[in-house]
Amino acid sequence: MGSTLITGIGSLVTNDPALGAGPLGPVTDAAVVLDGGRIAWVGPAAGAPAADEVFDAAGRAAVPGFVDSHSHLVFAGDRTAEFNARMSGQSYTAGGIRTTVAATRAATDEALDANVARYVGEALRQGTTVLECKSGYGLTVEDEARALRIAARHTDEVTYLGAHVVAPEYADDPAAYVDLVTGPMLDACAPHAGWVDVFCERGAFDGDQARAILTAGAKRGLTPRVHANQLTEGPGVQLAVELGAASADHCTHLTDADVAALASASASTVATLLPGAEFSTRARYPDARRLLDAGATVALSTDCNPGSSFTTSVPFCIAVAVREMGMTPDEALWSATAGGAAALRRTDVGRVTVGARADLVLLDAPSHVHLAYRPGVPLVAAVWRAGVREV
Ligand SMILES: [Zn+2]
Repeated sequence: MGSTLITGIGSLVTNDPALGAGPLGPVTDAAVVLDGGRIAWVGPAAGAPAADEVFDAAGRAAVPGFVDSHSHLVFAGDRTAEFNARMSGQSYTAGGIRTTVAATRAATDEALDANVARYVGEALRQGTTVLECKSGYGLTVEDEARALRIAARHTDEVTYLGAHVVAPEYADDPAAYVDLVTGPMLDACAPHAGWVDVFCERGAFDGDQARAILTAGAKRGLTPRVHANQLTEGPGVQLAVELGAASADHCTHLTDADVAALASASASTVATLLPGAEFSTRARYPDARRLLDAGATVALSTDCNPGSSFTTSVPFCIAVAVREMGMTPDEALWSATAGGAAALRRTDVGRVTVGARADLVLLDAPSHVHLAYRPGVPLVAAVWRAGVREV
């Protein structure tokens, strides 16, 4: 693979404050050189070096590839009827997950693999170049391990979520299910994952159960992340911060103490907001402004799953975050790129800087602001992932 000079970029977001004013580090009339899967040069086009190939961006805007740090793509079936019912006035409860569990267990490996490939491809066409993927629709030792093996064929960011809900077989004995998740299921799953996650929520796992699950995973080398405070206030956020989780995800119902914990100087936990879930369950949106003003690091992700947020579109989440959650267009873009990278503890993605992975999205627009200004419009004109033009 030779080098590629992408020149004529009217407006480039780098997320490197050393390259331009503010967190987005914008460069106008810019160029980028991709070489060997990495970014080899960034700066004003007038000073760009030669390369083997030249791509003319014709004045359009470019941004880092989106980093979607929260998705659930290993599933079968869909929940159209549930969505339809909910939009007709019924409220969402976590139990709907069990519908997808039954369909996923019944599916072949090939069917699940094809489904993941389909949604990863769908995300890529909308600019997502890094995508975290969780298990959580198997809920048996073998079905959870299978989900992780399949996810690992499509991404490096694989999360063990045996603690999505209590498996139906254990409905009368949740403590025994926690023993399974922290015992034989963890043994089978830890080799295939880098992260451990738990749905800490009324109707799923309480604070003590979540602590046991995350601590057991951490002992096996998995770094915690937590589904926290989605439907109600609860212990999830504080637990995530206390255990040094990479991310507390959802953060919809927060106390002042939760916000303070996420914003504290010693916190290494990103607040990951998932507006697709509130959109698709007609629920109150998280208050991004409150978190940002307190000083928390905020990421934006899709939460793509067939029940509560069936979208792979980061641009959609950016538009909703700007319209409904108090984020500026600049903040929303940062959260969907550098913020997602922080939530995955990655420094090689989510930015356009020398040495970073060569992930770049060209927009059919003069500015990244159009991602929020033109909601629902397919603005992604080209995508490079690790230096390869994929779209
Ligand atoms: Zn989720």
